[in-house]
Amino acid sequence: MTAAKHNWTKEEILKIYNKPLMELLYEAATVHRLHHDPNTVQVSTLLSIKTGGCPEDCGYCPQAARYHTHIEGNDLMSVTQVKAQALRAKASGSSRVCMGAAWRNVKDGEEFDQVLEMVRTINKLDMEVCCTLGMLTENQAKRLAEAGLYAYNHNLDSSEEYYKEVISTRGFEDRLETIGNVRKTNVTVCSGGIIGMGEKTEDRAGMLVALSTLNPQPESVPINALVAVEGTPLEDQKPVSIWDMVRMVATTRIVMPETQVRLSAGRTQMTREGQAMCFFAGANSIFAGDKLLTTPNPDVNEDMEMFEMLGLNPQKPFIKKMQPETVEAKDSEYAALGEKPKWSRPEHTIDRNEAAKQKAKTIK
Ligand code: SF4
Repeated sequence: MTAAKHNWTKEEILKIYNKPLMELLYEAATVHRLHHDPNTVQVSTLLSIKTGGCPEDCGYCPQAARYHTHIEGNDLMSVTQVKAQALRAKASGSSRVCMGAAWRNVKDGEEFDQVLEMVRTINKLDMEVCCTLGMLTENQAKRLAEAGLYAYNHNLDSSEEYYKEVISTRGFEDRLETIGNVRKTNVTVCSGGIIGMGEKTEDRAGMLVALSTLNPQPESVPINALVAVEGTPLEDQKPVSIWDMVRMVATTRIVMPETQVRLSAGRTQMTREGQAMCFFAGANSIFAGDKLLTTPNPDVNEDMEMFEMLGLNPQKPFIKKMQPETVEAKDSEYAALGEKPKWSRPEHTIDRNEAAKQKAKTIK
């Protein structure tokens, strides 16, 4: 079994991505079988615990307050609501609940304390708990780890170069710093990106360089196909082709052999045959539930039907890593520090983000 390599170059990755498709698929499937059970797929349920009203300007995101989209915002959910949803997810075959909040960064205080309680509650249901809450300090990462967090998601989104064409309210280095803070704990890292935002193939390879040269590599890498939402700066992007998706999944599998490659947003635009090809190419995780934060996703029953047809089994929780212990708030080693970290705010002008913002002003 080959060990993960941490010095991939863009040229090497492009060479893999551009191989004749049958060779690429064969190589990816071979790597996949060496490191994973090809008939097991991890199923996560993504839960938007706080929707909309986000101050960031991510060009793909309908939750950014500055754009006019048709999503309904909501305040932070209660622990009871989250527990009920987690139990439903568990009953339908999910081993992990991923909670997303539309925040720029985590702020110490009541709301973060409430999220910590959600983490404790879901961990006690014997499910893996993941959070995606924006930028995070080291102390906050440690508090989440103590509460029993299994994974933290923080996507790099694209290559460092193309990132600047999509987001102006924070820098690529902030993403890496947050991932570094998570790595100072025993929480696993989930980090990937989106294809179909108008980036070049070189940018896709650049993102995979950034992820694969992390040491250790992320335990989970979500590959999203852009869902172009009306009102966002990327509303006119054409859907990404299934061939691009398969190539991206296969290349990710080859450069990060031990990682769980997650088929994320954009599955509703794919046929079952297309998804089957992605599983063959090394995808071994999906998000379940009828919504991915705010964009559509296949119905969970349809997914289970697809699993049965393809002979796939949902992965049991804590197969890759032991269940973290939950430390109750009163026994916690870490206190809220009320930190005001200096996350960057480049604020360069991205024309299409500016245009979408102006358009929203005329509508509102
Ligand atoms: S992707 Fe996250 S940080 Fe960016 S606008 Fe959407 S909710 Fe905010």
